[in-house]
Amino acid sequence: MKRQTDIARYPLDAALTLIVMSRCPSLFAVLASLLLFAIPAHLKAQQRTELRHSALSSPELRSSPSGTDARNDHIYSSQPKPGIEEIIPEQYKRRYQEWKSEFLACETGRRQWETYAHHPGLLLTITVSGEKRNGAITGKFKWGDSGNLIAATITLGYRIDEGSPDPIYYPVLSSLGPLVDSGAISGRILAAAKIAHEFGHVNQTALTPGALYQLQDRLIRVHEEILLRNGHNTLDPRLMELAQEMGATPEQIWEDREYWAERNAMLYLDDRITEERLRRSLSANINRTVGLYAKGYDKRFIQVARSRHTAAEKFVSAK
Ligand SMILES: [Zn+2]
Repeated sequence: MKRQTDIARYPLDAALTLIVMSRCPSLFAVLASLLLFAIPAHLKAQQRTELRHSALSSPELRSSPSGTDARNDHIYSSQPKPGIEEIIPEQYKRRYQEWKSEFLACETGRRQWETYAHHPGLLLTITVSGEKRNGAITGKFKWGDSGNLIAATITLGYRIDEGSPDPIYYPVLSSLGPLVDSGAISGRILAAAKIAHEFGHVNQTALTPGALYQLQDRLIRVHEEILLRNGHNTLDPRLMELAQEMGATPEQIWEDREYWAERNAMLYLDDRITEERLRRSLSANINRTVGLYAKGYDKRFIQVARSRHTAAEKFVSAK
């Protein structure tokens, strides 16, 4: 099946786009110049492969593209009770509440939270782990008999208010780094943006057919096993067959998933950061990073800015 990258195929995502409120029309103008930036494709591919493999054993923020930590430990004998369940160790409760408050401080966060808090058929578990530091992971996915996602778990590191991930797969979160380091943006907003990233994984997984998602996870593992055994020969015809069956290469699946999550972080930040100077700095950072590393996905990010731009025009014209 063809890999899904078209925003119009995701009704929830389109709906999420619409909730963005208007404050800075200039965002679109800045992001629309994305195509000005590029690095050689072979270098990008090499960096991506290295990062992806290092990320698998790294504590940095990442999703669970292969679901390696997501299987077999969250088995339900029947449909779990839907809603949001927060399992927060006592020592992390205070900081978690601060991050959550920050996530809920704007409409984007509130609406997404409410969506899952009152979801009729999905249990979203949120927890904080002492084993993860700056990173977070979304996994433990479970699908019902009808193929709908019925459970997911977001595991947050205990220090997600510090540290920003690599720009290659995280063009939005990494763009916050300099602003957090300079004190212009608080660590709580960084933490909330990471929560938004993880919510983005849940959103995207819920919208992907369960059978396709599970097929991709299974074949990605087969793909990696073949690579390990054939001396990393990427021209192995078996890999090409697998990519055909999955509808994309593992790298493409990985980046597709991460960029949907990053887009959700961008939606949150677009709503949360209201100061014009900060918005411009962040837009410039995201613009540059998306142009460098996520060029093929720039429309996904421009769409956020464009929806805001359109909403801004409507708002102004309605005055
Ligand atoms: Zn992720």
